[in-house]
Amino acid sequence: MIDYHIHTNHSIDAEGELEEYCQRALSLGLEEICFTNHCELDPARNDSFICFNGQREKFTHHGLLRLQDEILKQKEKNKNSGLSIKFGIEIGYYKGIEPRLHEIIDGIELDFLLGSIHCLNHICIDSSREYMTYFAKHSAQTMLANYYQAVEDLVKSDLFNSVGHLDVYKKYGIAYYKDEIDEVTVESLRRIYRMMAERNIALEINTAGLRRIDQFYPSPFIAKYAREQGLNIITIGSDAHRVEDLGKGIAEGIKYAKSLGFEAVYRFNKKQPISVKI
Ligand SMILES: [Zn+2]
Ligand SMILES: [Zn+2]
Repeated sequence: MIDYHIHTNHSIDAEGELEEYCQRALSLGLEEICFTNHCELDPARNDSFICFNGQREKFTHHGLLRLQDEILKQKEKNKNSGLSIKFGIEIGYYKGIEPRLHEIIDGIELDFLLGSIHCLNHICIDSSREYMTYFAKHSAQTMLANYYQAVEDLVKSDLFNSVGHLDVYKKYGIAYYKDEIDEVTVESLRRIYRMMAERNIALEINTAGLRRIDQFYPSPFIAKYAREQGLNIITIGSDAHRVEDLGKGIAEGIKYAKSLGFEAVYRFNKKQPISVKI
């Protein structure tokens, strides 16, 4: 099994050392893990940080290099352990991020770039402290239209290997909007999946929703159009923000992926996809 969405204490909202995650992965018998700490770069927000030894600092190229060094050390330590370790990052996408993102990641050997929409209009809709600020001003239909437009921009940016937690808005949206949260325009979903398939961008099966709202991201009725549009590449991740959540729901997620018609999950090496039959 593999886990391709993991945050360590280098993310401002997560805990656990790299080493602790590696040990936990070994005890769970995971074959490969990919660290995907947050990289938020919106200048209109105050969350563009990377943490070292409990201290947050501005997210810079230098900081990412330092994280790379720490991950390489764990790779070296684990080279005969049977655990493969990859260096990824989860980027909170918004349109216009490109120049700042390039400044930070160019020249760094990342294995995997996960692109996620966390914010609409600079408000984090999957944060318990912020979602209400956005939801209170937008109908479900407007929120969904804006969200999927942001996903479409993310896909078109051609920067990413996989799209993270596609329907993460339901984390707080189910309770807030009730059934209206499901009023997604199928045509926009189809268009997004078609663009992802053409660009070889993966869809992530994210198991964090199981721990919160008893649902995978994305839901079956959202995910079911992916194969139909020729999308064959998926990644899978727990989105662990603490060591005990590593690998959680991955076995169920594989079953879920099979039920959606997928035949493989993908690992990445220097941004190149490698299929693992399921
Ligand atoms: Zn995320
Ligand atoms: Zn995440």
